[in-house]
Amino acid sequence: MRPIALSILAFLLISSAHAAEPLAAVERAIVPVAAWGGTPADASKARRHTITQITLHHQGEPFKPGTDPQAYLRRLQTWSRTTKGWLDIPYHYVIDLDGRMYEARNIDYAGDTNTEYDPGGHALIEVVGNFEEVEPNQAQLDAVVDLMAMLASKYKVSIDDIKSHRDHSDKTVCPGANLYRYVKEDYFRHKVALRLAGEQAR
Ligand SMILES: [Zn+2]
Repeated sequence: MRPIALSILAFLLISSAHAAEPLAAVERAIVPVAAWGGTPADASKARRHTITQITLHHQGEPFKPGTDPQAYLRRLQTWSRTTKGWLDIPYHYVIDLDGRMYEARNIDYAGDTNTEYDPGGHALIEVVGNFEEVEPNQAQLDAVVDLMAMLASKYKVSIDDIKSHRDHSDKTVCPGANLYRYVKEDYFRHKVALRLAGEQAR
């Protein structure tokens, strides 16, 4: 078989694999706030926004295997509200070590940041761990692609507006060198584009 035919075959295989799990299934798989024991934010204090970008973050601290992600989320919510005085967890979604996706801040409300960029308009994704020190695992990478593709499809976000924290602020290394590599080398943008093409072909 000639290389071009092989690449078409590969594309069809990728498309059919993706067809097995539509983006609607990705959205349904997200663990809602109530399910991990979180509480809704005070809507009267929320800054409402319209999603135009997708921005990737890391936790920036080690996430030890065996840590209960739901307990982590409850602690993060309490810390965000009491210590930081924020509306809620600064991110809209959190991805754990197994690639499970959790709802955090309501997507309709703009996020918060310790740096100087304005997160208004950004859908914010946090992956647990410190990617200055460890590598992201495949389950985490797959979940980032799934979540970015679902968000890009739902909010009509351009592939070019899929970025990371450090692309918006030079005062941070977030999402960490080992995860940033996948942003810089267009891994996520490429995979999301394929995912969206597969969805359209359904
Ligand atoms: Zn960040």
